[in-house]
Parts: sequence; C-alpha cells; structure tokens
Amino acid sequence: MKIKVIRDSNLSNCNCGNWLAHWNNFNAKPAVFCLEIRCTQMARLQGAIVKKSDTNNGELFVVPLCEKHALSNDELTLVNNANLETTDVTKTCDKK
Ligand SMILES: [Zn+2]
Ligand SMILES: [Zn+2]
Repeated sequence: MKIKVIRDSNLSNCNCGNWLAHWNNFNAKPAVFCLEIRCTQMARLQGAIVKKSDTNNGELFVVPLCEKHALSNDELTLVNNANLETTDVTKTCDKK
C-alpha cells in the first residue's frame, strides 16, 4: 500500500491524547516498528496522518511511522499487512 504523509492536516489530537495512542487503542498489538516497508526503526514512533495514494476522497488515516518517515514528502510504501486507523473519531474514540 502506498501513502503520503499529510503534515498540514490541521487535525487536533483526539480523546486518546495523541495519534499514536489512538492507533494503539484500536489495534490488537501496540506499534513496535515504523510501518514503512524497508524500515526497522523502533525508536520515537509517532502517529503520522496519511492519505492513501490510490484514493482521492480526502480520507485521512493514522499510521505509526518513525521520525524520518513522518517528515517525508515522498510517497511511502507500507508493509503488506499495515493497519491504517481512521482519523474519523466519530467512528472510534468519540463514538457515542
Ligand atoms: Zn482517538
Ligand atoms: Zn521509518
């Protein structure tokens, strides 16, 4: 899966505190590695806001990425089984 990091999304943090915590809250296992396909970085992961390259509906997702990849302007390829968590909090942590 190919994604691009969106750094000017203007999304504030959600009820989880930060977006990495948000991703962890809705996945069976907490993030250990950066999900870029060739990256093995485990330190300083952050919940990056991304959009899928193959869709253009503006939907934004959270993916755990390392510092370097979270700042990348390039299209990134994620590991095959990468879990993208929606940033739509009405479907997740702000669900009534
Ligand atoms: Zn959340
Ligand atoms: Zn990385």
